[in-house]
Amino acid sequence: MHQGYFHGEICLHDSITWKREKPMTTKTDILIIGGASIGLNCAYYLLKAGRKVTILEQKQIGMGSSSGNAGQIVPSHIIPLAAPGIVGTAMKWMLNPNNSPFGMKISLDPTYISWLIKFAASCSDANVQRGIPPLSALGQLSAKNFVEMIKTEKFECAYIEKGALFIYKDAQAFADGKVEAKMMNTHGVPIEIFDQAAVRKLEPIILDEIVGGILMSGDSNLNPAVFLQLLGKRVRSMGAEICENTAVTGFDVVDGKIRAVKTSAGDFEANEIVLAAGAWTPVVARDLRLNIPVQSARGYSMTMSAIKNMPGQSIFLGERRVAVTPMGDLLRFTGRLELSNLDTTVNPKHIAGIERAVREYLHVDEKLDVKETWSGLRPTTPDGVPIIARSSRYPNLIVATGHAMLGLALGPGTGQVVTELVTKKKSSFDLSPLRLERF
Ligand SMILES: Cc1cc2nc3c(=O)[nH]c(=O)nc-3n(C[C@H](O)[C@H](O)[C@H](O)COP(=O)(O)OP(=O)(O)OC[C@H]3O[C@@H](n4cnc5c(N)ncnc54)[C@H](O)[C@@H]3O)c2cc1C
Repeated sequence: MHQGYFHGEICLHDSITWKREKPMTTKTDILIIGGASIGLNCAYYLLKAGRKVTILEQKQIGMGSSSGNAGQIVPSHIIPLAAPGIVGTAMKWMLNPNNSPFGMKISLDPTYISWLIKFAASCSDANVQRGIPPLSALGQLSAKNFVEMIKTEKFECAYIEKGALFIYKDAQAFADGKVEAKMMNTHGVPIEIFDQAAVRKLEPIILDEIVGGILMSGDSNLNPAVFLQLLGKRVRSMGAEICENTAVTGFDVVDGKIRAVKTSAGDFEANEIVLAAGAWTPVVARDLRLNIPVQSARGYSMTMSAIKNMPGQSIFLGERRVAVTPMGDLLRFTGRLELSNLDTTVNPKHIAGIERAVREYLHVDEKLDVKETWSGLRPTTPDGVPIIARSSRYPNLIVATGHAMLGLALGPGTGQVVTELVTKKKSSFDLSPLRLERF
């Protein structure tokens, strides 16, 4: 068990105890930095493998940028964000700032400029071909693990296995969507194509002007906040030490190895450290002088009580890039991708833009009973593929981040492969495209 007394509420209490001269050091087996989708999934699989785990979370577990997301589990998402044509499309969107699904900060910060240049250079067919195998393998492993975990742990989290339906207003966009879906199908992604009449029959909430839809029938969805609360509770009951309100502030390196992780609640020593701090990862790792090119991409969501015509499955508004997800007695709309700083203030203008988009595609006539508006940060790499790797510089450090718009969907697979790295087992698939040194 935990050898120190510097965690959770105790740690807050101790920080005002002036009598102690020197902070105690806590010793553990595996230390996970970040307690949201990636950190909690890593904890779950490490605990199942018989390891002892301590989680350091600067706020509360199960939140981060993970709780208010669209809740989509999308093994169909095998094409990395950095793909041909995306820069031109993004620029066109920005000409209409009120309705644009995309935005970017203006900054001369060299790290940001370097990220933008690397991203633009990655928007190639070659990058798509490199990205498909790891995204596909990790997506399928995760989807399988979700099914197993939800069943074994009896998680009641509004899990629906009906696929994700992409719908289009514009005939050309529908045609382009079909070409992309057929290409994905050649990589094993199951798809079903619906014409105008069939798509409305499938989901009566869809407006007449929608020209058609594509169902990614292997996809599913759930309520991410509920899922993560249940997962957090489960890892606690399996023996994880969870240190909330405990921010990592630096590292102590001795002979090329991380000797201790410094936090607002004293030092922690561990055999292995898993860095899963999402969009904050580069800031957390600053002390280690590692190049982790993760840029935050802010997005927004609004969550409301169930409406009259609840959709039976998640729907994605093709041209407007907005997701509509039923979550039991709640409905959530999510959208927008803004290359941003680490600020998570909700901008009401963008929430209004998301709601407008929904009303352009779906019969949503009533006034909405909005329960929450939210903003979160997608941790995004320049090539659109996550980083899941042991550091070549620090032998006791594993980095698990950069999941961008897939950090929920790829969580259980990431937890499993991180555990394989820690336990030195053969990996479930080739991890070389996910290594940190590719940048
Ligand atoms: C609008 C929107 C919709 C999305 N929809 C989906 C979806 O449908 N499906 C999907 O798969 N993904 C979706 N995503 C993406 C997904 O939410 C992210 O990829 C995911 O949250 C990343 O998880 P993470 O654990 O890496 O990071 P986070 O969730 O951000 O967690 C990182 C944690 O690290 C903690 N931390 C940071 N710094 C420190 C420190 N110094 N010390 C200690 N702790 C620290 C943070 O407090 C946080 O809890 C969406 C994102 C957005 C914004």
